[in-house]
Amino acid sequence: MSLLVIGTVAFDAIETPFGKTDKIVGGAATFISLAASYFAKKINLVSVVGDDFPSDAIGMMQKRHINTDGLQVKQGEKTFFWSGRYHNDMNSRDTLETQLNVLEGFDPIIPESYQDCEFLMLGNLAPSVQMSVIERLRNRPKFVVLDTMNFWMDIALNDLHQVLKKVDVLTINDEEARQLSGEYSLVKAAQKILSMGPRYLIIKKGEHGALLFNDKQVFFAPALPLEEVFDPTGAGDSFAGGFIGYLAESRDISFDNLKRAVIFGSAMASFSVEKFGTERIQNLSAEEVDDRVQQFIDLVQFDISLV
Ligand code: AMP
Repeated sequence: MSLLVIGTVAFDAIETPFGKTDKIVGGAATFISLAASYFAKKINLVSVVGDDFPSDAIGMMQKRHINTDGLQVKQGEKTFFWSGRYHNDMNSRDTLETQLNVLEGFDPIIPESYQDCEFLMLGNLAPSVQMSVIERLRNRPKFVVLDTMNFWMDIALNDLHQVLKKVDVLTINDEEARQLSGEYSLVKAAQKILSMGPRYLIIKKGEHGALLFNDKQVFFAPALPLEEVFDPTGAGDSFAGGFIGYLAESRDISFDNLKRAVIFGSAMASFSVEKFGTERIQNLSAEEVDDRVQQFIDLVQFDISLV
């Protein structure tokens, strides 16, 4: 079933203890759509870039059956740019620069063919823009997932609270969950955040895995212990893409299936960090994806018989 993805399509410049990149293609919606493309057959992208964005990067997305009719290219304007530097543990990073550029006046246009989508992924963007996408869809999708970050909590908290009332799932990292709730304990933070609107909350903990909460249950998925982590940028978005792509394809939004989706999301995140930018998730085979998911199954399987 069709999946609509909105978020940034961007240039990133990244510094890690292993190296540094000049401007490379990144952006929340880029990672989400690519990761989702291994599961969902129909992905409709809504975003905006400037005329400095390479057409071969758009072609790369189209090759993975991502529909870019909703990607606006603004002549005479510059693409959103973000740069960040990772600390030695790769779990934390500092944003060095955020240039909103073309994002500043972004007015998302939803092509007619995108209406009636069943699954909506609101990737990291200004909460008011995320809200406008919900408002511009004639029917509320069956399932709406929202991702955000501290940047928007700092500058647009009220708007974020408004859009949180409209979504099924919020995905954020542990630091952001603490900021949004004002609670240190992630269990208390989850209770508070669930009372703000979403039915489910996913807290991403980098190399320490991810937690899925609803008001009664909690599920934990580990991150795969990897020999090499090259660049964590986009791990959260690749997670979200695998998560919603799997749900959109299976069309089952029970808690048990959400648990499976968290594992597929974690598998896509584990690929994403193995190379800089989107390189690793541009061209995976079905076997590679299956093998990776199997590694997750093996990692957490154990037998205990309690007498
Ligand atoms: P992640 O590592 O999953 O948190 O996402 C990294 C991606 O988010 C990068 O490719 C950036 O281009 C994008 N990004 C960084 N800051 C923002 C922001 N304030 N709004 C939207 N996207 C952003």
